[in-house]
Amino acid sequence: MIASSPTADEIAAAIRTIPDFPKAGIQFKDITPLLADARLFSGSIDLLIDGIKPGLVDAVVGIDARGFIFAAAAAIKLDAGFIPIRKKGKLPYQTHEEEYELEYGTATVAVHVDALKPGSRVLLVDDLLATGGTAAAAAALVQKLGATILQISFLIELTFLSGRGKLQNYPIKSVVQY
Ligand code: AMP
Repeated sequence: MIASSPTADEIAAAIRTIPDFPKAGIQFKDITPLLADARLFSGSIDLLIDGIKPGLVDAVVGIDARGFIFAAAAAIKLDAGFIPIRKKGKLPYQTHEEEYELEYGTATVAVHVDALKPGSRVLLVDDLLATGGTAAAAAALVQKLGATILQISFLIELTFLSGRGKLQNYPIKSVVQY
């Protein structure tokens, strides 16, 4: 028997909130119970790529580290390649880098200079949209390579942090909102 597709509410019910992790005041969204459930994991990818047919994008770009889990699975379902955007210092070949603001200080993400062909069509994926700084920096790297972002998809969106404000040039989709 083929299991029915999960709803976004079922997926939300499998995401656990851990208070004060990794530091006081953060309500950390723990996706590991969702990943451990085959039906919910697969269904979350279907919802993440809803409306995007295989062949429409050339590559799914995932953001270090939990974004990789969803982006790699989406790439396989979409018959597309997978491209990692990593934290600075992790990629072995020549990179472009983009710095962005954190609550305290800055962080830098990087991509290989030859990761995407100019003109290639990209779905950018991360697990969670909070303030939008990470995704905006990742999107800037994709643009630097001359590729086109068709959509940015997040499993989770913390709407009270208004991250979409930093991503106004792109179509944004999220599966579960808080
Ligand atoms: P931001 O740049 O503020 O949009 O933060 C997004 C990145 O930080 C994502 O890659 C998330 O994995 C991580 N992140 C931020 N806030 C949370 C949270 N409450 N729970 C889990 N991950 C988070």
